[in-house]
Amino acid sequence: MRRKMAAGNWKMNGTRANLVEIDALIRDHGAAKSEVLICPPATLIHAMSGRADARIAVGAQDCHMSAAGAHTGDVSAEMLADVGASHVITGHSERRADHGESDADVAAKTAAVWAAGLVAIVCIGETLAQRKSGDTLNVIGAQLAGSIPDGATGANTVIAYEPVWAIGTGEVATVGQIAEVHDFIRAELAARFGAKAADTLRLLYGGSVKPANAAEIFATSNVDGALVGGASLKAADFGGIIAALDAA
Ligand code: PEP
Repeated sequence: MRRKMAAGNWKMNGTRANLVEIDALIRDHGAAKSEVLICPPATLIHAMSGRADARIAVGAQDCHMSAAGAHTGDVSAEMLADVGASHVITGHSERRADHGESDADVAAKTAAVWAAGLVAIVCIGETLAQRKSGDTLNVIGAQLAGSIPDGATGANTVIAYEPVWAIGTGEVATVGQIAEVHDFIRAELAARFGAKAADTLRLLYGGSVKPANAAEIFATSNVDGALVGGASLKAADFGGIIAALDAA
């Protein structure tokens, strides 16, 4: 049985003043059935993990593929673990687009996350042009194969399907589109890792998830939760999504 997960990605938003959102989340959803994770900017991980206790997990949005070295401005998975992160997002489409991260880079980062004993949340998703040209499943298949190293299990990896055209746009994939891709991902994972292992890997949907559309998305085939950007910044909005997930 896969435990559902609500993961928030604050992106480059938030200062220490925003940590009150964590207090509100703990107060209102600290006993949620679903696993709740917030990935704030790296500058807030230490303070947030100290404040969040075990009821809310704290993660990072990226890491370097090496454990240490001459990489000015970068942060390693070991360093993130040291300040209290339990998860690291790898391959978010904004990193792929803004920093030219390839599938091979994402796989190397995912391996680094595992080596530090953390859980990787590996993001994949097609652009609007790729969807319009009928390439969605080819793109997803290639990203899945290239971004996840051998050895993925439900204990070290979560996969987030995030259509690029639905991130931060208010445009949500239809239930049919989400089901098609999530069923495809599950089948690809089964072909590669075996049905039993594939069954343990959680598949999150991401792309303009809000309290108002969450229930419908969470009722969709092979959706085990959500990776949420904008609506994770406020505890009241994210709480509505957590409640919908607990009820699904
Ligand atoms: C994201 O950043 O992963 C995301 C899904 O953003 P939003 O919910 O704002 O579309």
